[in-house]
Amino acid sequence: MNTIHRRTFLVQSLAGIGVSVLPSFLKAGESGSIPTYGITDVVKSSENDFLYYRVDAPGTPFHIVTKRESTLLKPFTISDEYKTMGKPFPRSTDSNKPVAFVEGGKLGLNGNIEVYDNSDGYGIRYNFSPILQTPSHTSVRPGFLFKTDNAIKRFPPKLVEQFINRGIKISLGKDVESTYYHFYPGWKIADVALDKTLKAEGNLPVISTSNCNDRRKRSQTAAIYGDKNIMIPQIHETYPVGGIVDLNEVRYYSMDEVVAHELFHALDDFNNDYYINSKDPSYANHKKQYIQSGYTYARSGWYSDTQEYINAYEIDKQRMPSDLREELAYQFCGRKESFADVGSSLLGLRNPESTKRFLRAFPMCAEYVRKNILGNEFGVSVSVQGVRDFCPDYLKDIPTNLAGK
Ligand SMILES: [Zn+2]
Repeated sequence: MNTIHRRTFLVQSLAGIGVSVLPSFLKAGESGSIPTYGITDVVKSSENDFLYYRVDAPGTPFHIVTKRESTLLKPFTISDEYKTMGKPFPRSTDSNKPVAFVEGGKLGLNGNIEVYDNSDGYGIRYNFSPILQTPSHTSVRPGFLFKTDNAIKRFPPKLVEQFINRGIKISLGKDVESTYYHFYPGWKIADVALDKTLKAEGNLPVISTSNCNDRRKRSQTAAIYGDKNIMIPQIHETYPVGGIVDLNEVRYYSMDEVVAHELFHALDDFNNDYYINSKDPSYANHKKQYIQSGYTYARSGWYSDTQEYINAYEIDKQRMPSDLREELAYQFCGRKESFADVGSSLLGLRNPESTKRFLRAFPMCAEYVRKNILGNEFGVSVSVQGVRDFCPDYLKDIPTNLAGK
């Protein structure tokens, strides 16, 4: 079904009124008489450039439009014929209050779309997480945008709040070029060089776990954290060789895992810039705070480089069953990976299989993250019983002398 006069419509929606991500001024329970509508149909334009979501407001159905390539700031517009004519909603004098909601669930959104009466017509807002951005040099498919936003919203709000305060961001982009190579041009040079070497070797051995040299190129990585910035390209290469992964197409759960893992790298690194800049007087106070928090650090300001975490990691490594040791070879390339994996597992943001695997492999690391980092440092309490709700065997095979208090 296509009820749209396509040609007129495309031109009009291109010039559509702006969409913003201004915070909602409406508090829960205040919705009162504001109507909520469902999406009843999704119509793709023949050019594949636009998606139209049909909204069945009584008597006057209208359409919300998404360009197939979106930047974060303008994911939606409302179809032009409805935005100035006073329909389907009565005009409102309060531009801070939505005149209608559209259920976001059908689009995979973890929240409702809000319709506002701006002075010059109707506009649409959706409240994406403030840590999410699509820089202006690139654009992504809406599905990828929504999945990433949902994944952030599954994270404890208390932690996200602290990420906002520390300026931690998630930057989306169309591909590796507009993310990793954009922020770190040197990585492209390194990837091209590695590609050449691998070709010269006849692509031999792509993976060698013995010395942590798995020879992965950055372009084969789903997401990378660096300098308070999590970069996630919509498209990257499959690992180890060939093919393309499009995160617009993956299950929601996969994005939850990717986002949660990277957010734990950001958490691990939370105070590291204080450490790096500790000679700068303006950081002196932060450095003091960090030292007072009681962590000894050997080589950096990362939590996973504290002596306590190193000890936990070494115990886990010695105790680890050989089947897991082989399976988790990637983790041995650094404590940072184990930190991110146990952290995301403890919050129940990974699939049950990998949760079980990581928490069985790194119980001491997990306990350190659960008690010292999440609990003491960030005030997010996660109980052992809470973890056992989704991972029943958590800590059950730990000798009591190791389990500690
Ligand atoms: Zn990682």
